[in-house]
Amino acid sequence: SRIRTFNIIKNKYATDAEYKPIRSVLVANRCEIAIRVFRACNEMGIRSVAIYSEQDTMQMYRQKADESYLVGKGLSPVEAYLNIPEIIQVCKENNIDAVHPGYGFLSERSDFAQAVIDAGIRFIGPSPKVVQQMGDKVAARQAAIAAQVPIVPGTDGPVHTKEEALQFCQQYGLPVIFKAAYGGGGRGMRVVKRMRDVTESFERASSEAKAAFGNGAMFIEKFIERPRHIEVQLLGDKAGNVVHLYERDCSVQRRHQKVVEIAPAPRLDPETRDKMTEYAVKLARHVGYESAGTVEFLCDENGDFFFIEVNPRLQLEHTVTEEVTRVDLVQSQIRIAEGMTLPQMGLTQDKISTQGFAIQCCVTSEDPANDFQPDFGRIEVFRSAEGMGIRLDSASAYDGAVISPHYDSLLVKVIAHAADLQSAASKMARALKEFKILGVKTNIPLLTNVLENPRFLNGVLDTYFIDENPQLFN
Ligand code: ADP
Repeated sequence: SRIRTFNIIKNKYATDAEYKPIRSVLVANRCEIAIRVFRACNEMGIRSVAIYSEQDTMQMYRQKADESYLVGKGLSPVEAYLNIPEIIQVCKENNIDAVHPGYGFLSERSDFAQAVIDAGIRFIGPSPKVVQQMGDKVAARQAAIAAQVPIVPGTDGPVHTKEEALQFCQQYGLPVIFKAAYGGGGRGMRVVKRMRDVTESFERASSEAKAAFGNGAMFIEKFIERPRHIEVQLLGDKAGNVVHLYERDCSVQRRHQKVVEIAPAPRLDPETRDKMTEYAVKLARHVGYESAGTVEFLCDENGDFFFIEVNPRLQLEHTVTEEVTRVDLVQSQIRIAEGMTLPQMGLTQDKISTQGFAIQCCVTSEDPANDFQPDFGRIEVFRSAEGMGIRLDSASAYDGAVISPHYDSLLVKVIAHAADLQSAASKMARALKEFKILGVKTNIPLLTNVLENPRFLNGVLDTYFIDENPQLFN
Protein backbone atom coordinates (compact mmCIF):
# COMPACT_ATOMS: atom_id res chain seq x y z
CA SER A 1 0.00 0.00 0.00
CA ARG A 2 0.89 3.63 -0.22
CA ILE A 3 1.67 4.01 3.45
CA ARG A 4 3.96 1.03 3.45
CA THR A 5 5.91 2.39 0.50
CA PHE A 6 6.24 5.70 2.28
CA ASN A 7 7.53 3.96 5.38
CA ILE A 8 10.10 2.04 3.43
CA ILE A 9 11.40 5.13 1.72
CA LYS A 10 11.48 7.06 4.94
CA ASN A 11 13.22 4.24 6.69
CA LYS A 12 15.73 3.83 3.88
CA TYR A 13 16.90 7.38 4.34
CA ALA A 14 16.45 7.45 8.09
CA THR A 15 19.02 9.61 9.75
CA ASP A 16 20.59 9.24 13.12
CA ALA A 17 22.73 11.62 15.10
CA GLU A 18 25.79 10.64 13.09
CA TYR A 19 24.27 11.26 9.68
CA LYS A 20 25.57 14.28 7.79
CA PRO A 21 24.94 14.59 4.07
CA ILE A 22 27.86 15.10 1.71
CA ARG A 23 27.28 17.88 -0.79
CA SER A 24 30.65 17.98 -2.53
CA VAL A 25 33.39 15.44 -3.25
CA LEU A 26 36.91 16.14 -4.44
CA VAL A 27 38.68 13.23 -6.11
CA ALA A 28 42.40 13.21 -5.34
CA ASN A 29 43.16 11.23 -8.47
CA ARG A 30 42.91 11.39 -12.26
CA CYS A 31 41.38 9.81 -15.36
CA GLU A 32 39.46 6.55 -15.17
CA ILE A 33 38.88 6.27 -11.42
CA ALA A 34 38.21 10.01 -11.10
CA ILE A 35 35.48 9.71 -13.75
CA ARG A 36 34.06 6.64 -11.98
CA VAL A 37 33.62 8.69 -8.79
CA PHE A 38 32.30 11.79 -10.60
CA ARG A 39 29.62 9.66 -12.22
CA ALA A 40 28.53 8.33 -8.84
CA CYS A 41 28.38 11.90 -7.48
CA ASN A 42 26.53 13.26 -10.50
CA GLU A 43 23.85 10.59 -10.10
CA MET A 44 23.49 11.43 -6.39
CA GLY A 45 23.24 15.19 -6.96
CA ILE A 46 26.59 15.77 -5.26
CA ARG A 47 28.96 18.49 -6.55
CA SER A 48 32.00 16.78 -8.11
CA VAL A 49 35.44 18.38 -8.08
CA ALA A 50 38.57 17.37 -9.98
CA ILE A 51 42.22 18.21 -9.52
CA TYR A 52 44.67 18.08 -12.41
CA SER A 53 48.39 18.47 -13.01
CA GLU A 54 49.81 20.78 -15.68
CA GLN A 55 50.45 17.71 -17.84
CA ASP A 56 46.77 16.75 -17.49
CA THR A 57 45.39 20.12 -18.58
CA MET A 58 43.94 18.60 -21.76
CA GLN A 59 42.61 15.42 -20.15
CA MET A 60 38.91 14.96 -20.65
CA TYR A 61 38.23 13.66 -17.14
CA ARG A 62 38.20 17.29 -16.02
CA GLN A 63 35.06 17.81 -18.11
CA LYS A 64 33.22 15.05 -16.25
CA ALA A 65 33.45 16.97 -12.97
CA ASP A 66 31.51 20.12 -12.11
CA GLU A 67 34.75 21.98 -11.38
CA SER A 68 38.46 21.35 -11.66
CA TYR A 69 41.56 22.90 -10.09
CA LEU A 70 45.19 22.89 -11.13
CA VAL A 71 47.64 21.42 -8.59
CA GLY A 72 51.37 20.81 -8.46
CA LYS A 73 52.60 23.74 -10.55
CA GLY A 74 56.28 23.17 -11.08
CA LEU A 75 56.16 19.67 -9.59
CA SER A 76 56.72 16.45 -11.50
CA PRO A 77 53.61 14.90 -13.13
CA VAL A 78 53.26 12.28 -10.39
CA GLU A 79 54.24 14.54 -7.45
CA ALA A 80 51.35 16.84 -8.37
CA TYR A 81 48.90 14.17 -7.15
CA LEU A 82 50.91 13.46 -4.00
CA ASN A 83 51.19 16.97 -2.60
CA ILE A 84 49.01 16.65 0.49
CA PRO A 85 49.12 20.27 1.78
CA GLU A 86 48.12 21.70 -1.58
CA ILE A 87 45.27 19.24 -2.09
CA ILE A 88 43.95 20.06 1.40
CA GLN A 89 44.25 23.76 0.55
CA VAL A 90 42.15 23.28 -2.60
CA CYS A 91 39.52 21.52 -0.47
CA LYS A 92 39.42 24.33 2.09
CA GLU A 93 39.18 27.05 -0.52
CA ASN A 94 36.36 25.34 -2.36
CA ASN A 95 34.06 24.19 0.39
CA ILE A 96 34.67 20.47 -0.05
CA ASP A 97 32.78 18.08 2.24
CA ALA A 98 34.60 14.85 1.41
CA VAL A 99 37.63 13.49 -0.44
CA HIS A 100 37.75 10.27 -2.45
CA PRO A 101 41.31 9.00 -3.00
CA GLY A 102 40.59 6.47 -5.80
CA TYR A 103 43.35 3.85 -6.09
CA GLY A 104 47.10 4.38 -6.35
CA PHE A 105 48.54 7.83 -5.53
CA LEU A 106 47.49 8.77 -1.95
CA SER A 107 44.85 6.07 -1.51
CA GLU A 108 46.86 4.00 0.95
CA ARG A 109 48.56 6.84 2.79
CA SER A 110 47.25 7.08 6.34
CA ASP A 111 48.88 10.52 6.70
CA PHE A 112 46.68 11.74 3.86
CA ALA A 113 43.52 10.31 5.43
CA GLN A 114 44.52 11.96 8.71
CA ALA A 115 45.28 15.32 7.07
CA VAL A 116 41.86 15.28 5.39
CA ILE A 117 40.13 14.55 8.70
CA ASP A 118 42.21 17.16 10.57
CA ALA A 119 40.99 19.75 8.06
CA GLY A 120 37.40 18.91 9.05
CA ILE A 121 36.73 17.07 5.79
CA ARG A 122 35.49 13.50 5.49
CA PHE A 123 37.77 10.84 4.03
CA ILE A 124 35.89 8.32 1.86
CA GLY A 125 37.66 5.21 3.05
CA PRO A 126 38.66 3.42 6.24
CA SER A 127 40.04 5.23 9.30
CA PRO A 128 43.71 6.33 9.13
CA LYS A 129 44.52 3.71 11.75
CA VAL A 130 43.14 0.90 9.58
CA VAL A 131 44.78 2.28 6.42
CA GLN A 132 48.10 2.25 8.25
CA GLN A 133 47.62 -1.21 9.71
CA MET A 134 46.61 -2.78 6.39
CA GLY A 135 49.40 -1.08 4.44
CA ASP A 136 51.97 -2.69 6.68
CA LYS A 137 52.20 -6.36 5.62
CA VAL A 138 53.41 -7.47 9.05
CA ALA A 139 50.69 -5.61 10.99
CA ALA A 140 48.03 -6.87 8.58
CA ARG A 141 49.15 -10.45 9.13
CA GLN A 142 49.05 -9.93 12.88
CA ALA A 143 45.47 -8.71 12.57
CA ALA A 144 44.65 -11.81 10.49
CA ILE A 145 46.19 -14.07 13.14
CA ALA A 146 44.23 -12.31 15.86
CA ALA A 147 41.02 -12.82 13.88
CA GLN A 148 41.95 -16.51 13.44
CA VAL A 149 42.22 -16.23 9.67
CA PRO A 150 44.66 -18.72 8.05
CA ILE A 151 47.81 -17.07 6.70
CA VAL A 152 50.75 -18.22 4.58
CA PRO A 153 53.67 -19.21 6.84
CA GLY A 154 56.00 -16.24 6.98
CA THR A 155 58.28 -14.12 9.11
CA ASP A 156 56.77 -12.66 12.29
CA GLY A 157 58.21 -9.25 11.61
CA PRO A 158 60.16 -7.28 9.04
CA VAL A 159 63.49 -8.81 8.05
CA HIS A 160 66.43 -6.44 7.65
CA THR A 161 69.45 -8.63 7.00
CA LYS A 162 70.39 -11.44 4.64
CA GLU A 163 71.40 -13.57 7.63
CA GLU A 164 67.87 -13.44 9.02
CA ALA A 165 66.53 -14.27 5.55
CA LEU A 166 68.78 -17.29 5.27
CA GLN A 167 67.75 -18.49 8.70
CA PHE A 168 64.06 -18.34 7.77
CA CYS A 169 64.66 -20.24 4.54
CA GLN A 170 66.64 -22.94 6.29
CA GLN A 171 63.95 -23.34 8.89
CA TYR A 172 60.88 -23.36 6.61
CA GLY A 173 62.35 -24.60 3.32
CA LEU A 174 62.05 -23.29 -0.21
CA PRO A 175 60.51 -21.90 -2.32
CA VAL A 176 59.83 -18.57 -0.64
CA ILE A 177 58.78 -15.15 -1.84
CA PHE A 178 60.40 -11.91 -0.70
CA LYS A 179 58.12 -8.89 -0.51
CA ALA A 180 58.67 -5.29 0.45
CA ALA A 181 57.28 -4.99 4.00
CA TYR A 182 55.96 -1.50 3.27
CA GLY A 183 55.28 -1.75 -0.44
CA GLY A 184 53.06 -3.22 -3.10
CA GLY A 185 52.35 -3.41 -6.79
CA GLY A 186 54.83 -6.22 -7.31
CA ARG A 187 57.90 -4.04 -6.75
CA GLY A 188 60.59 -5.51 -4.54
CA MET A 189 59.01 -8.95 -4.95
CA ARG A 190 61.18 -12.00 -5.72
CA VAL A 191 60.64 -15.75 -5.76
CA VAL A 192 63.56 -17.82 -4.52
CA LYS A 193 63.84 -21.51 -5.33
CA ARG A 194 67.49 -22.35 -4.58
CA MET A 195 69.29 -21.92 -1.28
CA ARG A 196 72.36 -20.49 -2.97
CA ASP A 197 70.26 -17.60 -4.38
CA VAL A 198 68.83 -16.51 -1.04
CA THR A 199 71.35 -13.86 -0.01
CA GLU A 200 71.75 -12.25 -3.42
CA SER A 201 68.00 -12.19 -4.09
CA PHE A 202 67.41 -10.73 -0.67
CA GLU A 203 69.84 -7.91 -1.26
CA ARG A 204 68.40 -7.10 -4.68
CA ALA A 205 64.80 -7.17 -3.52
CA SER A 206 65.65 -5.11 -0.48
CA SER A 207 67.46 -2.40 -2.43
CA GLU A 208 64.57 -2.33 -4.95
CA ALA A 209 62.16 -1.86 -2.05
CA LYS A 210 64.32 0.88 -0.57
CA ALA A 211 64.37 2.73 -3.88
CA ALA A 212 60.62 2.36 -4.44
CA PHE A 213 59.22 2.76 -0.92
CA GLY A 214 62.02 4.35 1.06
CA ASN A 215 62.35 1.30 3.29
CA GLY A 216 64.34 -1.83 2.55
CA ALA A 217 62.63 -3.97 5.20
CA MET A 218 61.43 -7.24 3.72
CA PHE A 219 58.87 -9.75 4.54
CA ILE A 220 59.32 -13.42 3.65
CA GLU A 221 56.64 -16.03 3.13
CA LYS A 222 56.34 -19.53 1.75
CA PHE A 223 55.77 -19.46 -1.98
CA ILE A 224 52.61 -21.31 -2.91
CA GLU A 225 52.92 -23.24 -6.17
CA ARG A 226 50.22 -22.78 -8.82
CA PRO A 227 47.95 -20.69 -6.61
CA ARG A 228 44.67 -19.10 -7.51
CA HIS A 229 44.30 -15.50 -6.39
CA ILE A 230 40.83 -15.02 -4.96
CA GLU A 231 39.72 -11.86 -3.17
CA VAL A 232 36.61 -10.98 -1.20
CA GLN A 233 34.90 -7.59 -1.58
CA LEU A 234 33.69 -6.02 1.67
CA LEU A 235 31.66 -3.06 2.81
CA GLY A 236 31.64 -1.87 6.41
CA ASP A 237 29.76 1.04 7.97
CA LYS A 238 30.37 3.37 10.92
CA ALA A 239 28.03 1.34 13.13
CA GLY A 240 30.23 -1.77 12.84
CA ASN A 241 28.13 -3.68 10.29
CA VAL A 242 30.15 -5.60 7.71
CA VAL A 243 28.92 -7.46 4.63
CA HIS A 244 30.76 -9.25 1.84
CA LEU A 245 29.86 -8.96 -1.82
CA TYR A 246 31.29 -12.33 -2.77
CA GLU A 247 34.59 -12.83 -4.50
CA ARG A 248 36.67 -12.12 -7.58
CA ASP A 249 39.18 -14.40 -9.26
CA CYS A 250 42.32 -12.50 -10.28
CA SER A 251 44.47 -15.54 -11.07
CA VAL A 252 45.08 -14.50 -14.66
CA GLN A 253 48.27 -12.53 -14.07
CA ARG A 254 51.46 -11.64 -15.85
CA ARG A 255 54.48 -11.50 -13.56
CA HIS A 256 52.29 -11.18 -10.44
CA GLN A 257 50.20 -8.37 -11.94
CA LYS A 258 46.49 -8.92 -12.58
CA VAL A 259 45.48 -9.07 -16.25
CA VAL A 260 41.90 -10.39 -16.31
CA GLU A 261 39.46 -10.32 -13.38
CA ILE A 262 36.32 -12.41 -12.98
CA ALA A 263 33.38 -12.37 -10.57
CA PRO A 264 32.44 -14.70 -9.04
CA ALA A 265 35.40 -17.15 -9.02
CA PRO A 266 34.67 -19.98 -11.49
CA ARG A 267 34.67 -23.57 -10.15
CA LEU A 268 34.99 -22.48 -6.54
CA ASP A 269 33.33 -25.03 -4.32
CA PRO A 270 30.56 -23.51 -2.23
CA GLU A 271 32.10 -24.61 1.04
CA THR A 272 35.39 -22.83 0.28
CA ARG A 273 33.46 -19.74 -0.79
CA ASP A 274 31.52 -19.74 2.48
CA LYS A 275 34.66 -20.13 4.56
CA MET A 276 36.58 -17.50 2.64
CA THR A 277 33.87 -14.87 2.82
CA GLU A 278 33.32 -15.64 6.49
CA TYR A 279 37.02 -15.16 7.27
CA ALA A 280 37.12 -11.90 5.33
CA VAL A 281 34.14 -10.54 7.28
CA LYS A 282 35.68 -11.70 10.55
CA LEU A 283 38.92 -9.89 9.80
CA ALA A 284 37.08 -6.70 8.83
CA ARG A 285 34.99 -6.80 12.02
CA HIS A 286 38.10 -7.41 14.05
CA VAL A 287 39.83 -4.25 12.83
CA GLY A 288 36.68 -2.10 12.69
CA TYR A 289 36.73 -1.78 8.92
CA GLU A 290 34.73 1.05 7.37
CA SER A 291 34.00 1.68 3.66
CA ALA A 292 34.94 -0.61 0.75
CA GLY A 293 37.88 -2.98 1.03
CA THR A 294 39.25 -6.24 -0.27
CA VAL A 295 40.74 -9.23 1.51
CA GLU A 296 43.09 -11.19 -0.77
CA PHE A 297 43.71 -14.93 -0.48
CA LEU A 298 45.83 -17.46 -2.32
CA CYS A 299 44.28 -20.87 -2.87
CA ASP A 300 46.60 -23.86 -3.27
CA GLU A 301 46.06 -27.00 -5.33
CA ASN A 302 44.40 -28.79 -2.40
CA GLY A 303 41.78 -26.08 -2.09
CA ASP A 304 43.33 -24.70 1.11
CA PHE A 305 43.51 -20.93 1.17
CA PHE A 306 45.64 -18.39 2.95
CA PHE A 307 45.32 -14.68 3.63
CA ILE A 308 47.90 -12.49 1.84
CA GLU A 309 46.78 -8.91 2.26
CA VAL A 310 43.99 -6.35 2.62
CA ASN A 311 43.59 -3.51 0.14
CA PRO A 312 42.00 -0.70 2.15
CA ARG A 313 40.52 1.10 -0.86
CA LEU A 314 38.45 0.72 -3.99
CA GLN A 315 40.17 -1.55 -6.52
CA LEU A 316 40.57 -1.36 -10.26
CA GLU A 317 38.50 -4.52 -10.60
CA HIS A 318 35.60 -3.44 -8.35
CA THR A 319 33.45 -3.20 -11.49
CA VAL A 320 32.97 -6.95 -11.94
CA THR A 321 31.52 -7.17 -8.43
CA GLU A 322 29.17 -4.28 -9.24
CA GLU A 323 27.95 -6.08 -12.37
CA VAL A 324 27.15 -9.40 -10.67
CA THR A 325 25.71 -7.94 -7.43
CA ARG A 326 24.13 -4.77 -8.92
CA VAL A 327 25.51 -2.82 -5.95
CA ASP A 328 27.17 0.52 -6.78
CA LEU A 329 30.28 0.34 -4.60
CA VAL A 330 31.26 3.99 -5.00
CA GLN A 331 27.82 5.27 -4.07
CA SER A 332 27.86 2.87 -1.13
CA GLN A 333 31.20 4.33 -0.01
CA ILE A 334 29.77 7.84 -0.15
CA ARG A 335 26.62 6.87 1.79
CA ILE A 336 28.78 5.18 4.42
CA ALA A 337 30.91 8.31 4.74
CA GLU A 338 27.68 10.26 5.27
CA GLY A 339 26.94 8.03 8.23
CA MET A 340 24.27 5.84 6.67
CA THR A 341 24.28 2.23 7.89
CA LEU A 342 24.32 -0.79 5.60
CA PRO A 343 20.82 -1.92 6.69
CA GLN A 344 19.53 1.59 5.95
CA MET A 345 20.94 1.16 2.45
CA GLY A 346 19.24 -2.23 2.06
CA LEU A 347 22.61 -3.96 2.22
CA THR A 348 22.10 -6.83 4.63
CA GLN A 349 23.91 -10.08 3.85
CA ASP A 350 20.74 -12.00 2.97
CA LYS A 351 19.88 -9.41 0.31
CA ILE A 352 23.24 -9.63 -1.48
CA SER A 353 23.60 -12.25 -4.19
CA THR A 354 25.35 -12.67 -7.52
CA GLN A 355 23.92 -13.23 -10.95
CA GLY A 356 25.93 -14.65 -13.85
CA PHE A 357 29.58 -13.89 -14.48
CA ALA A 358 31.41 -10.65 -15.18
CA ILE A 359 34.89 -10.30 -16.69
CA GLN A 360 37.10 -7.22 -16.80
CA CYS A 361 39.98 -6.50 -19.18
CA CYS A 362 42.07 -3.34 -19.11
CA VAL A 363 42.97 -2.18 -22.58
CA THR A 364 46.35 -0.48 -22.24
CA SER A 365 48.74 1.21 -24.64
CA GLU A 366 51.38 -1.43 -24.08
CA ASP A 367 53.19 -3.33 -26.79
CA PRO A 368 53.01 -7.11 -26.17
CA ALA A 369 55.63 -7.65 -28.90
CA ASN A 370 58.08 -5.41 -27.02
CA ASP A 371 57.89 -6.84 -23.50
CA PHE A 372 54.83 -4.70 -22.74
CA GLN A 373 56.69 -1.42 -22.88
CA PRO A 374 54.21 1.45 -22.67
CA ASP A 375 53.57 3.03 -26.06
CA PHE A 376 52.96 6.79 -26.34
CA GLY A 377 51.69 9.21 -28.89
CA ARG A 378 48.53 10.43 -30.49
CA ILE A 379 45.56 8.14 -30.94
CA GLU A 380 44.71 8.68 -34.61
CA VAL A 381 41.57 6.56 -34.63
CA PHE A 382 39.57 5.32 -31.68
CA ARG A 383 36.46 3.34 -32.39
CA SER A 384 34.95 1.75 -29.32
CA ALA A 385 33.15 -1.49 -28.74
CA GLU A 386 29.57 -1.40 -27.57
CA GLY A 387 26.52 -3.65 -27.35
CA MET A 388 24.62 -5.79 -24.90
CA GLY A 389 26.42 -6.75 -21.70
CA ILE A 390 29.39 -4.45 -22.27
CA ARG A 391 30.35 -1.70 -19.83
CA LEU A 392 33.17 0.72 -20.63
CA ASP A 393 34.98 2.76 -17.98
CA SER A 394 37.28 4.86 -20.06
CA ALA A 395 40.36 6.80 -19.03
CA SER A 396 41.22 9.12 -21.87
CA ALA A 397 40.71 7.32 -25.11
CA TYR A 398 39.23 9.12 -28.09
CA ASP A 399 40.28 10.32 -31.53
CA GLY A 400 43.16 12.74 -31.12
CA ALA A 401 43.90 11.96 -27.46
CA VAL A 402 47.58 12.13 -26.64
CA ILE A 403 48.94 9.32 -24.49
CA SER A 404 51.74 10.71 -22.35
CA PRO A 405 54.63 8.79 -20.84
CA HIS A 406 54.02 10.39 -17.43
CA TYR A 407 51.24 8.16 -16.11
CA ASP A 408 49.92 4.60 -16.38
CA SER A 409 48.92 3.31 -19.78
CA LEU A 410 45.25 2.46 -19.16
CA LEU A 411 43.00 3.42 -22.08
CA VAL A 412 39.70 1.80 -21.17
CA LYS A 413 38.35 -0.85 -18.84
CA VAL A 414 36.02 -3.25 -20.63
CA ILE A 415 33.58 -5.23 -18.51
CA ALA A 416 31.40 -8.01 -19.95
CA HIS A 417 28.48 -9.49 -18.04
CA ALA A 418 26.48 -12.56 -19.08
CA ALA A 419 24.65 -15.56 -17.64
CA ASP A 420 27.70 -17.85 -17.56
CA LEU A 421 31.48 -17.66 -17.90
CA GLN A 422 31.60 -18.82 -21.52
CA SER A 423 29.00 -16.28 -22.66
CA ALA A 424 30.75 -13.49 -20.77
CA ALA A 425 34.05 -14.53 -22.37
CA SER A 426 32.63 -14.59 -25.88
CA LYS A 427 31.05 -11.17 -25.31
CA MET A 428 34.41 -9.85 -24.14
CA ALA A 429 36.33 -11.38 -27.05
CA ARG A 430 33.77 -9.97 -29.47
CA ALA A 431 34.02 -6.52 -27.86
CA LEU A 432 37.82 -6.53 -27.89
CA LYS A 433 37.77 -7.29 -31.61
CA GLU A 434 35.31 -4.46 -32.22
CA PHE A 435 37.80 -1.86 -31.01
CA LYS A 436 39.76 -0.07 -33.66
CA ILE A 437 42.68 1.80 -32.14
CA LEU A 438 45.31 3.33 -34.41
CA GLY A 439 48.32 5.40 -33.39
CA VAL A 440 49.40 3.45 -30.32
CA LYS A 441 49.96 -0.26 -29.84
CA THR A 442 47.65 -2.00 -27.39
CA ASN A 443 47.48 -5.27 -25.45
CA ILE A 444 44.25 -6.30 -27.23
CA PRO A 445 45.89 -9.24 -29.09
CA LEU A 446 47.03 -10.83 -25.80
CA LEU A 447 43.67 -10.23 -24.11
CA THR A 448 41.78 -11.77 -27.02
CA ASN A 449 44.02 -14.85 -26.96
CA VAL A 450 43.41 -15.28 -23.23
CA LEU A 451 39.66 -14.93 -23.64
CA GLU A 452 39.56 -17.55 -26.39
CA ASN A 453 41.84 -20.03 -24.67
CA PRO A 454 40.06 -23.32 -23.82
CA ARG A 455 41.59 -23.42 -20.36
CA PHE A 456 40.25 -19.95 -19.60
CA LEU A 457 36.82 -20.85 -20.98
CA ASN A 458 36.71 -23.86 -18.67
CA GLY A 459 37.60 -21.67 -15.70
CA VAL A 460 40.75 -23.67 -14.92
CA LEU A 461 42.89 -20.84 -13.64
CA ASP A 462 46.10 -20.25 -11.72
CA THR A 463 48.68 -17.51 -11.61
CA TYR A 464 51.03 -19.42 -13.97
CA PHE A 465 48.57 -19.47 -16.87
CA ILE A 466 49.92 -16.54 -18.92
CA ASP A 467 53.60 -16.90 -18.06
CA GLU A 468 53.51 -20.60 -19.03
CA ASN A 469 51.70 -20.13 -22.32
CA PRO A 470 53.89 -18.13 -24.68
CA GLN A 471 51.49 -18.77 -27.56
CA LEU A 472 49.14 -16.25 -25.92
CA PHE A 473 51.54 -13.54 -27.04
CA ASN A 474 51.22 -14.39 -30.73
P1 ADP B 1 51.22 -6.62 -4.29
O1 ADP B 1 50.67 -5.90 -3.11
O2 ADP B 1 52.60 -6.19 -4.67
O3 ADP B 1 50.28 -6.69 -5.45
P2 ADP B 1 50.43 -9.24 -3.31
O4 ADP B 1 50.83 -9.68 -1.97
O5 ADP B 1 49.03 -8.79 -3.50
O6 ADP B 1 51.47 -8.12 -3.81
O7 ADP B 1 50.73 -10.38 -4.35
C1 ADP B 1 50.52 -10.23 -5.73
C2 ADP B 1 50.64 -11.57 -6.44
O8 ADP B 1 51.91 -12.17 -6.18
C3 ADP B 1 49.64 -12.62 -6.01
O9 ADP B 1 48.42 -12.50 -6.64
C4 ADP B 1 50.38 -13.90 -6.39
O10 ADP B 1 50.29 -14.14 -7.78
C5 ADP B 1 51.80 -13.57 -6.06
N1 ADP B 1 52.09 -14.00 -4.69
C6 ADP B 1 52.13 -13.23 -3.58
N2 ADP B 1 52.42 -13.95 -2.47
C7 ADP B 1 52.59 -15.22 -2.89
C8 ADP B 1 52.91 -16.46 -2.24
N3 ADP B 1 53.14 -16.52 -0.92
N4 ADP B 1 52.98 -17.58 -2.99
C9 ADP B 1 52.76 -17.54 -4.33
N5 ADP B 1 52.45 -16.42 -5.00
C10 ADP B 1 52.38 -15.26 -4.31
